[in-house]
Amino acid sequence: MITGTTQLLGVIGHPVTHSLSPVMHNAALQALGRDLVYLPLPVRPADLAIAVAGFGAIGLVGFNVTIPHKQAIMPLLTEISEVAQAVGAVNTVWQTEAGWHGTNTDVLGFLAPLQAMARAWAEAPAVVLGNGGAARAVVVGCAQLGCGAIQVVGRNPAKLTAFRESWAGFPPAKLVQVHDWAQLAQLLPTAALVVNTTPVGMHPHPDQMPLTVEQIAQLSPDCVVYDLIYTPRPTRLLQQAAAQGCPTLDGAEMLVQQGAAALELWLQQPVPVEVMRQALLNATTKP
Ligand code: NAP
Repeated sequence: MITGTTQLLGVIGHPVTHSLSPVMHNAALQALGRDLVYLPLPVRPADLAIAVAGFGAIGLVGFNVTIPHKQAIMPLLTEISEVAQAVGAVNTVWQTEAGWHGTNTDVLGFLAPLQAMARAWAEAPAVVLGNGGAARAVVVGCAQLGCGAIQVVGRNPAKLTAFRESWAGFPPAKLVQVHDWAQLAQLLPTAALVVNTTPVGMHPHPDQMPLTVEQIAQLSPDCVVYDLIYTPRPTRLLQQAAAQGCPTLDGAEMLVQQGAAALELWLQQPVPVEVMRQALLNATTKP
């Protein structure tokens, strides 16, 4: 029940109507019996600074940040965590005495299901398909996992070069190599982990795949195939990889775990991850 003491959390973006975060966070807040509510907060790019100042004025506890504000928010914050600086984007913000503090929980979210697999990831070769925003969190995650090489495959040479150069001064710099799509034949047979960070195969195009059937056949049956897409679950890529024995992971757990990590920061207490997972799965399987 919303009362005179209810505090506010939310997600800023433009648009935010598609966000599944309100469903996950409100389910957890209700389960915990906390007097907080999490709302979608649509903010136009031109209004970002004034919106953040307003959040301070009304004592908003914290907020998630989604497209297009993940980079633009950074100059408005007092402190930015090392991980968010490495990724180059902030997805979680909270208020401190000193001002707004920002971090990026996508890396934790990406890593959680890999760490739960209890594999030895040290020196493992990783292949990352795509070089956009999510690929940045994946690269930082692969470096934290201990991967020996991170082979990033993209379709735009200028963006690939900029992507490689952007790691200067950060831990992944020594590990990241960039390649065009034609070089996959050399990279796939030895990969221990392949991560799809492109939207290829996402609803409403579930018949598409970022790899061909022949390319998937090149993977070792030990190779973990991880698709960040969470609609549909599983994607055609994951179905095809599973059919030849590869362990697979979809993007739903990353979404749940990045949300749980954010909520823990705001509430400063353990959060009911299973409640968040169920709320998300119910929302994504609705017709
Ligand atoms: P983004 O910044 O737009 O990056 C997309 C990347 O995919 C770019 O490198 C783009 O290449 C490439 N790409 C797009 N279409 C392609 C195609 N047909 N063939 C080859 N490459 C293509 O998007 P993002 O924010 O990184 O998100 C990417 C995906 O990750 C989305 O499906 C999103 O839902 C998912 N995601 C999931 C989670 C989660 O928690 N599970 C979190 C974040 C993102 P160009 O730059 O050349 O266009």
